Amino acid sequence: MAIATINPTTGETIKVFDSLTDEEIAHKLALGQTAFQQYRYTSFLERSHWLQQAATILDQEKTEFAQLLTLEMGKPLKAAIAEVEKCAVVCRYYAENAADFLADVTVKTDASHSFIKYQPLGIILAVMPWNFPFWQVFRFAAPALMAGNVGLLKHASNVPQSALAIEDIFHRAGFPVGVFQTLLIGAGKVADLIADDRVKAATLTGSEPAGASLAAAAGKQIKKTVLELGGSDPFIVLESADLETAVNTAVTARMLNNGQSCIAAKRFIIAESIADQFEKLLLAKFQSLKVGDPMQPDTDIGPLATPDILQDLDQQVKIAVKSGGKILTGGYALSDGAGNFYPPTIIIDVPPVHPIAKEEFFGPVALLFRVADIDAAIKLANDIPFGLGASAWTNNQQECDRLIQEIEAGAVFINGMVKSDPRLPFGGIKRSGYGRELSIQGIHEFVNVKTVWVK
Ligand code: NAP
Repeated sequence: MAIATINPTTGETIKVFDSLTDEEIAHKLALGQTAFQQYRYTSFLERSHWLQQAATILDQEKTEFAQLLTLEMGKPLKAAIAEVEKCAVVCRYYAENAADFLADVTVKTDASHSFIKYQPLGIILAVMPWNFPFWQVFRFAAPALMAGNVGLLKHASNVPQSALAIEDIFHRAGFPVGVFQTLLIGAGKVADLIADDRVKAATLTGSEPAGASLAAAAGKQIKKTVLELGGSDPFIVLESADLETAVNTAVTARMLNNGQSCIAAKRFIIAESIADQFEKLLLAKFQSLKVGDPMQPDTDIGPLATPDILQDLDQQVKIAVKSGGKILTGGYALSDGAGNFYPPTIIIDVPPVHPIAKEEFFGPVALLFRVADIDAAIKLANDIPFGLGASAWTNNQQECDRLIQEIEAGAVFINGMVKSDPRLPFGGIKRSGYGRELSIQGIHEFVNVKTVWVK
């Protein structure tokens, strides 16, 4: 895949980049390693100051950064601005809390003094996707840099300018040279990087095949990984739910980022008794969404990020129809003019046992399923290889308790949509990955948890 900015709204190639040569990669690795030797001894106060500076830059230049995100991957500009603002929030969160999260912890034992000490590991490789080009990187980098690690970013090939902009932000914020570097390289170079002794661990956010490939390479080298992979999250609505709020939230939860979010609600599992009403309300809302130029303030849905994603989604919808599914709205790629546009789509009656019902639809397509009761809802929600985040709607306390207890996912949100929050851990189970980002758990992923015992 070429490393290039290609405007998904027009199909125009804006800028093409050469992949780094092996010599350039070697130089960056050496620079990162040298930087680590000094950076690991900087104080939390210094790191915190630099990260606060990064937050200030993000806030001050959010419109320019947002325009770049929209240009490279097509999300509506207002969503891109919100993404940049959230990056500033995560920087401030770790700038303020990392020293506490990584403070020594005394543990009483038979020693005169025993405690846990958290120490940085070194170079951490981050392989990141294009869907939240800034957020995915900052949610890795803020805790990693506060912990005293240094970062190497291999970003998705379709967002090279975003990748370079992030490196520039850390540089301008005052972080020492080499502490955060972007490598413009293709996926084929990742295994060699992991094999390098200086790279101590890796994190990947992206698809299952990419995660499996990175984890296999890291496994060979006995190196730790964190994987944030795909999902096909359930959105369960039971009879006692506030239907109007549930429908409004369902639209946002499915359409965020033009439908290209790992934690988007993708399978809508509705109690039979309210399903007709839910379907009618959702249909009206989907049909009222405006598809178009993501730079325009009134656009709800921009283009998909690449022609391949459009083609894959179109293919999945065709298979869903072949399996018995019926389209209520949308269901075809928009081909009037350039751009990777796909309209909001609702599909009903896909047999839940068909393999297509268990796939992730990475675009504005909602699958609707009807269930008789909560038992059937939980069974269907869990009958999938993924387990990222589930949203469930009920006003019945017993149902609420059961959903929290029985849903197989890294997160359960009751009467709200799944979202990431720097204060809460984020991550999946099953084929959605392992490890956690954000919160105290996130910063503990890439540190040596050293046991100290003094007689
Ligand atoms: P992708 O193709 O897996 O790409 C993600 C990153 O991995 C890119 O930097 C890509 O580089 C790289 N990559 C691809 N194949 C690789 C390999 N074999 N070895 C090493 N690196 C490799 O994912 P995507 O299609 O862009 O992103 C969509 C997927 O990401 C969806 O499944 C979505 O659910 C998931 N996602 C998960 C989370 C989460 O937090 N759980 C968040 C966002 C997205 P190139 O671009 O150069 O190919």
